[in-house]
Amino acid sequence: MLDPFLLFDNFESDDPDDYIGGFPSHPHRGFETVTYILAGRMRHKDNAGHEGVIAAGDVQWMTAGRGIIHSEMPEQEDGLLQGFQLWVNLPAKDKMMAPRYQEFSAKEIPFEVLDNGVTIKVISGETDRGTAGMVRNTSTNPLYFDISLKAGSSITQSLPEQYNAFIYVIEGAALANEDGIKAGPRDLAILGNGDHITIMSPDEDSRLLLIAGERLNEPVARAGPFVMNTRAEVLQAFQDYQNGNF
Ligand code: FE
Repeated sequence: MLDPFLLFDNFESDDPDDYIGGFPSHPHRGFETVTYILAGRMRHKDNAGHEGVIAAGDVQWMTAGRGIIHSEMPEQEDGLLQGFQLWVNLPAKDKMMAPRYQEFSAKEIPFEVLDNGVTIKVISGETDRGTAGMVRNTSTNPLYFDISLKAGSSITQSLPEQYNAFIYVIEGAALANEDGIKAGPRDLAILGNGDHITIMSPDEDSRLLLIAGERLNEPVARAGPFVMNTRAEVLQAFQDYQNGNF
């Protein structure tokens, strides 16, 4: 839990026994799930008739809002499946909004290439040079960058003071900020608060995610797939689900 983020899952395996079970039909209410695939394919299907495949480089930003029942199943039967699922909380005023999808294929995602050997894929938010992601989200105005750095390069990005931020290293080794945080593959580093972040990759090529969002500062009541503000609202969610009101 790093307000407004509720969960960050890195799935990565080339053993079908690990992933073939997938995530059969289950509900969500009160937050958003963001799926970003690096390798492999996942088929997504929901109770409103929405269906599609998320493949390597694609992103699906799903706002569950007042309720979605969906399944997320690997489409492939062997080979590497790798990707991320991030849960982004919604503020009280948006928890019961109508469900919504924002889906973009790898080739639709804007990116910028800097002279110093840095490439930034912008899934959401805007870089200091004005490259903006396609995802629209005014609930937490999140920033989700996939950053590749050549050895010896660095990148500075401004971040609003009211944001929480973290990096997750996919490969290589990165130094973050004046904090001197050093992170390697599969390390998640939570950044101190401030108005910018500088990430360096001094010795080798690196790839990492930079994820940040506005703190909600609201009470969080969560149980399984439901994330609300109070326990009564969570119990209501269970009841609505059982009564077929999703
Ligand atoms: Fe789900």
